[in-house]
Amino acid sequence: MKTIVLASNNKHKISEFKEMLPDFKVLALKDVGFFEDIVEDGTTFLENSLIKARAITKFLNEKGKKALVIADDSGLCVNSLNGEPGVYSARYAGEHGNNVENRAKLLKKLKNKADRSAYFVCLLTVMNPDGTYSYVEGKTFGHITPEERGNTSFCYDCLFYSDELKKTFGEATDDEKNSVSHRGRAIKMLIEKGLLN
Ligand code: IMP
Repeated sequence: MKTIVLASNNKHKISEFKEMLPDFKVLALKDVGFFEDIVEDGTTFLENSLIKARAITKFLNEKGKKALVIADDSGLCVNSLNGEPGVYSARYAGEHGNNVENRAKLLKKLKNKADRSAYFVCLLTVMNPDGTYSYVEGKTFGHITPEERGNTSFCYDCLFYSDELKKTFGEATDDEKNSVSHRGRAIKMLIEKGLLN
Protein backbone atom coordinates (compact mmCIF):
# COMPACT_ATOMS: atom_id res chain seq x y z
CA MET A 1 0.00 0.00 0.00
CA LYS A 2 1.46 3.35 -1.07
CA THR A 3 1.96 5.94 1.68
CA ILE A 4 0.79 9.54 1.33
CA VAL A 5 1.71 12.19 3.86
CA LEU A 6 -1.05 14.75 4.18
CA ALA A 7 0.29 18.18 5.12
CA SER A 8 -2.37 18.72 7.76
CA ASN A 9 -3.46 17.80 11.26
CA ASN A 10 -7.06 18.90 10.65
CA LYS A 11 -9.00 15.81 11.73
CA HIS A 12 -11.89 16.52 9.35
CA LYS A 13 -9.61 16.84 6.34
CA ILE A 14 -7.71 13.70 7.36
CA SER A 15 -10.85 11.61 7.68
CA GLU A 16 -12.18 12.87 4.33
CA PHE A 17 -8.90 11.91 2.64
CA LYS A 18 -8.88 8.50 4.32
CA GLU A 19 -12.45 7.80 3.21
CA MET A 20 -11.77 8.85 -0.37
CA LEU A 21 -8.38 7.14 -0.72
CA PRO A 22 -8.99 3.67 0.76
CA ASP A 23 -6.16 2.16 -1.31
CA PHE A 24 -3.53 4.42 0.28
CA LYS A 25 -2.01 4.69 3.72
CA VAL A 26 -2.77 8.32 4.61
CA LEU A 27 -0.55 9.77 7.34
CA ALA A 28 -1.11 13.10 9.10
CA LEU A 29 1.74 15.39 10.15
CA LYS A 30 1.69 14.13 13.72
CA ASP A 31 2.10 10.56 12.40
CA VAL A 32 5.46 11.49 10.83
CA GLY A 33 6.66 13.51 13.82
CA PHE A 34 6.19 16.97 12.31
CA PHE A 35 5.12 19.42 15.02
CA GLU A 36 6.40 22.76 13.70
CA ASP A 37 4.11 25.66 12.89
CA ILE A 38 4.00 26.38 9.18
CA VAL A 39 3.48 30.08 8.47
CA GLU A 40 0.91 30.21 5.70
CA ASP A 41 1.54 33.75 4.50
CA GLY A 42 0.64 33.26 0.85
CA THR A 43 -2.15 35.28 -0.72
CA THR A 44 -3.57 32.47 -2.85
CA PHE A 45 -4.62 28.89 -2.18
CA LEU A 46 -1.84 27.71 -4.50
CA GLU A 47 0.86 29.68 -2.70
CA ASN A 48 -0.22 28.36 0.71
CA SER A 49 -0.48 24.82 -0.51
CA LEU A 50 3.04 25.03 -1.98
CA ILE A 51 4.39 26.47 1.29
CA LYS A 52 3.00 23.44 3.15
CA ALA A 53 4.09 20.89 0.53
CA ARG A 54 7.66 22.26 0.45
CA ALA A 55 8.01 22.37 4.25
CA ILE A 56 6.89 18.75 4.66
CA THR A 57 8.91 17.43 1.71
CA LYS A 58 12.05 19.10 3.13
CA PHE A 59 11.34 17.62 6.58
CA LEU A 60 10.82 14.11 5.18
CA ASN A 61 13.97 14.32 3.04
CA GLU A 62 16.02 15.41 6.09
CA LYS A 63 14.66 12.38 7.98
CA GLY A 64 15.54 10.11 5.07
CA LYS A 65 11.87 9.26 4.47
CA LYS A 66 10.57 9.22 0.93
CA ALA A 67 6.85 9.74 0.46
CA LEU A 68 4.38 11.51 -1.73
CA VAL A 69 3.12 14.64 0.02
CA ILE A 70 -0.34 16.09 -0.52
CA ALA A 71 -0.96 19.62 0.71
CA ASP A 72 -4.54 20.83 0.89
CA ASP A 73 -5.26 24.52 1.08
CA SER A 74 -8.94 25.21 1.09
CA GLY A 75 -11.48 27.81 2.05
CA LEU A 76 -14.83 29.42 1.58
CA CYS A 77 -15.33 32.33 -0.85
CA VAL A 78 -18.43 34.53 -0.59
CA ASN A 79 -19.25 36.53 -3.71
CA SER A 80 -20.81 39.60 -2.06
CA LEU A 81 -17.79 39.84 0.27
CA ASN A 82 -15.30 39.93 -2.62
CA GLY A 83 -14.23 36.35 -2.00
CA GLU A 84 -13.84 36.59 1.79
CA PRO A 85 -12.90 34.72 3.91
CA GLY A 86 -10.89 32.94 1.16
CA VAL A 87 -7.35 32.08 2.22
CA TYR A 88 -8.17 33.45 5.68
CA SER A 89 -11.05 30.98 6.26
CA ALA A 90 -9.38 29.21 9.19
CA ARG A 91 -8.55 32.49 10.98
CA TYR A 92 -11.31 34.81 9.74
CA ALA A 93 -12.12 36.08 13.22
CA GLY A 94 -8.46 36.30 14.24
CA GLU A 95 -7.56 33.15 16.13
CA HIS A 96 -6.71 30.09 13.98
CA GLY A 97 -9.45 27.46 14.02
CA ASN A 98 -12.03 29.30 16.16
CA ASN A 99 -15.05 27.95 14.29
CA VAL A 100 -17.67 29.61 16.47
CA GLU A 101 -16.18 33.09 16.04
CA ASN A 102 -15.47 32.53 12.33
CA ARG A 103 -19.11 31.65 11.67
CA ALA A 104 -20.40 34.53 13.81
CA LYS A 105 -18.25 37.00 11.83
CA LEU A 106 -19.47 35.60 8.51
CA LEU A 107 -23.14 35.81 9.52
CA LYS A 108 -22.66 39.36 10.78
CA LYS A 109 -21.00 40.49 7.55
CA LEU A 110 -23.81 38.97 5.49
CA LYS A 111 -26.63 40.42 7.61
CA ASN A 112 -27.78 43.02 5.07
CA LYS A 113 -26.59 41.30 1.90
CA ALA A 114 -29.14 40.00 -0.60
CA ASP A 115 -26.53 37.89 -2.41
CA ARG A 116 -25.42 35.03 -0.15
CA SER A 117 -23.93 32.88 -2.93
CA ALA A 118 -20.63 31.21 -2.08
CA TYR A 119 -18.29 28.43 -3.08
CA PHE A 120 -15.67 26.27 -1.46
CA VAL A 121 -12.25 25.83 -3.09
CA CYS A 122 -9.76 23.04 -2.49
CA LEU A 123 -6.30 23.35 -3.96
CA LEU A 124 -4.32 20.13 -3.74
CA THR A 125 -0.61 20.02 -4.47
CA VAL A 126 1.06 16.65 -4.87
CA MET A 127 4.80 16.88 -4.30
CA ASN A 128 7.39 14.21 -5.07
CA PRO A 129 10.49 13.78 -2.88
CA ASP A 130 12.57 15.66 -5.52
CA GLY A 131 10.34 18.73 -5.18
CA THR A 132 8.54 18.39 -8.51
CA TYR A 133 4.82 18.89 -8.16
CA SER A 134 1.39 19.00 -9.78
CA TYR A 135 -1.79 20.57 -8.53
CA VAL A 136 -5.55 20.41 -9.04
CA GLU A 137 -8.39 22.59 -7.86
CA GLY A 138 -11.89 21.47 -6.89
CA LYS A 139 -14.89 23.75 -6.35
CA THR A 140 -18.44 23.38 -5.12
CA PHE A 141 -21.22 25.98 -5.18
CA GLY A 142 -24.03 27.01 -2.87
CA HIS A 143 -25.04 29.77 -0.49
CA ILE A 144 -24.72 30.79 3.13
CA THR A 145 -27.78 30.03 5.27
CA PRO A 146 -29.02 32.63 7.79
CA GLU A 147 -28.59 30.16 10.65
CA GLU A 148 -26.57 27.04 11.44
CA ARG A 149 -28.04 23.75 10.25
CA GLY A 150 -26.70 20.32 11.16
CA ASN A 151 -23.28 19.31 12.41
CA THR A 152 -21.25 22.29 13.60
CA SER A 153 -17.89 20.55 13.98
CA PHE A 154 -16.19 21.36 10.64
CA CYS A 155 -16.19 25.15 10.57
CA TYR A 156 -18.49 26.42 7.77
CA ASP A 157 -20.22 23.08 6.98
CA CYS A 158 -23.37 23.99 8.92
CA LEU A 159 -23.71 27.33 7.06
CA PHE A 160 -23.00 26.09 3.53
CA TYR A 161 -26.15 25.07 1.65
CA SER A 162 -25.06 22.95 -1.29
CA ASP A 163 -26.91 23.67 -4.57
CA GLU A 164 -26.47 20.02 -5.51
CA LEU A 165 -27.37 18.28 -2.26
CA LYS A 166 -30.20 20.72 -1.42
CA LYS A 167 -29.07 20.75 2.20
CA THR A 168 -26.13 22.08 4.17
CA PHE A 169 -22.89 20.11 4.35
CA GLY A 170 -23.61 19.93 8.07
CA GLU A 171 -26.83 18.04 7.34
CA ALA A 172 -25.23 15.73 4.76
CA THR A 173 -23.75 12.30 5.40
CA ASP A 174 -19.99 11.91 4.84
CA ASP A 175 -20.63 10.10 1.56
CA GLU A 176 -23.03 12.78 0.33
CA LYS A 177 -20.60 15.57 1.15
CA ASN A 178 -17.63 13.77 -0.40
CA SER A 179 -19.59 13.15 -3.62
CA VAL A 180 -19.93 16.87 -4.43
CA SER A 181 -17.45 18.66 -2.19
CA HIS A 182 -14.49 20.77 -3.30
CA ARG A 183 -12.13 18.26 -1.63
CA GLY A 184 -13.95 15.24 -3.08
CA ARG A 185 -13.70 16.73 -6.56
CA ALA A 186 -10.03 17.61 -6.20
CA ILE A 187 -9.17 14.11 -4.94
CA LYS A 188 -11.10 12.57 -7.84
CA MET A 189 -9.07 14.73 -10.25
CA LEU A 190 -5.81 13.51 -8.66
CA ILE A 191 -6.86 9.92 -9.25
CA GLU A 192 -8.20 10.51 -12.79
CA LYS A 193 -5.04 12.35 -13.85
CA GLY A 194 -2.90 9.50 -12.47
CA LEU A 195 -1.07 11.88 -10.11
CA LEU A 196 -0.96 9.36 -7.26
CA ASN A 197 0.59 6.54 -9.31
P1 IMP B 1 -6.39 25.45 5.75
O1 IMP B 1 -6.34 24.27 6.67
O2 IMP B 1 -5.36 26.47 6.01
O3 IMP B 1 -6.47 25.02 4.32
O4 IMP B 1 -7.78 26.18 6.10
C1 IMP B 1 -8.97 25.64 5.62
C2 IMP B 1 -10.13 26.32 6.32
O5 IMP B 1 -11.17 26.53 5.36
C3 IMP B 1 -10.75 25.43 7.39
O6 IMP B 1 -10.16 25.62 8.65
C4 IMP B 1 -12.21 25.86 7.35
O7 IMP B 1 -12.37 27.07 8.06
C5 IMP B 1 -12.42 26.14 5.88
N1 IMP B 1 -12.85 24.91 5.17
C6 IMP B 1 -12.18 24.28 4.16
N2 IMP B 1 -12.85 23.19 3.75
C7 IMP B 1 -13.96 23.14 4.51
C8 IMP B 1 -15.05 22.21 4.56
O8 IMP B 1 -15.13 21.21 3.83
N3 IMP B 1 -16.00 22.49 5.48
C9 IMP B 1 -15.96 23.56 6.31
N4 IMP B 1 -14.98 24.45 6.31
C10 IMP B 1 -13.97 24.24 5.41
